[in-house]
Amino acid sequence: MRRIYLDNNATTPIHPDVAESIRPFLNGLFGNPSSTHFAGRDVKGPYDAARAAIAAMIGATTDALVITSCGSEANNHAIKGIAYAARSKGHIITSTVEHPAVLNVCRYLETQGFPVTYLPVDGLGLVDPDDVRDAIRKDTILVSIMYANNETGTVMPIRQIVEAAHEKGVPVHSDMVQALGKIAVDLKGLGVDLASFSGHKVYAPKGVGALYVREGIALDNLIHGGHQEEGRRAGTENVIGIIAFGKACELAGAHAEEHTARLEALRSRLLDGILDRIDDVRLNGHPTQRVPNTLNLSFEFVESESLLFSLDRKGIAVSAGSACSSGSNEPSHVLLAMGIPGPLCQSALRFSLGWGNTEEEIDYVLEVLPGAVGRLREMSPFYRK
Ligand SMILES: *Cc1c(COP(=O)(O)O)cnc(C)c1O
Repeated sequence: MRRIYLDNNATTPIHPDVAESIRPFLNGLFGNPSSTHFAGRDVKGPYDAARAAIAAMIGATTDALVITSCGSEANNHAIKGIAYAARSKGHIITSTVEHPAVLNVCRYLETQGFPVTYLPVDGLGLVDPDDVRDAIRKDTILVSIMYANNETGTVMPIRQIVEAAHEKGVPVHSDMVQALGKIAVDLKGLGVDLASFSGHKVYAPKGVGALYVREGIALDNLIHGGHQEEGRRAGTENVIGIIAFGKACELAGAHAEEHTARLEALRSRLLDGILDRIDDVRLNGHPTQRVPNTLNLSFEFVESESLLFSLDRKGIAVSAGSACSSGSNEPSHVLLAMGIPGPLCQSALRFSLGWGNTEEEIDYVLEVLPGAVGRLREMSPFYRK
């Protein structure tokens, strides 16, 4: 059976060039980069080069990077690190549409006595920078708002949010896991103070991420131990993960325009094809202010879990809401926060495209989807057409 993978926001396949780049480190180059002998020196150079490639991709200097085990760790490090470095239990501002790796950190900190404000979004999924301005209190220590949403692809007005927060001297963290490799991430231009990234969302393996920390930001450590990462994150370096992440950033940087154009064309082909063939379909998220690979659609009168299952049987992998909440049958917290009615949230499917997808694959999806939707609608007591 054919296998068509349209769930790249959950994780991406490892790019062949990335796989090639780590081969020497699986076969012989095994040293600890902190060792000063030959085995350590053999990996220290490539390790530093890979860190530099990640830094270059986000417009940062290498000393502003802390390599982590994943995007979730980067978010935890940023938010808990700021919270615990503050002298008193300061106030945190975030949004209702964040990834669980931000939302649940904030919920945890609430149990530890830190007050948190969860800002609403509009119908397209945007936080209003004026709401950030209004929510800031005397004791506010951090604003954490994501750059691109993983479920809808909507891109937040981060520069304006940073302006609003900086007016009152409050630092800003942004979960940029879904932005990297999809839209330009220029940390200097955006002005954020902390930003999180993940390797496996950009064609590197799982188990590596990065946190950007602007110089002068006081942050407590999350993992205490050795002096790796300039004393900011203990644990022997994940050499293979970082070599791979560095290569992935290099590829993403070198092919940025080409990939954006390609993904946009494929997504338009998919969207236009679906709208041509299927009635009662609704686009969730911002129609223009969004990353090029993500398409979130509600198929009215269809249960998204059932549709996901039908497509899977035809070899097509998509997602209902986010990977983190799938299987639970709970409506997406992101779509609910956008004011989308419950039944439409439960009809939502996310298609997230990647570098490897082809026009021919999209056409196969367009062949299969109308029948799958039609069959499920026929079984729905609410569908009358
Ligand atoms: C995937 C994802 C994360 C978590 O990254 P991991 O490396 O899987 O821990 C965080 N935020 C967003 C927006 C994501 O899409």
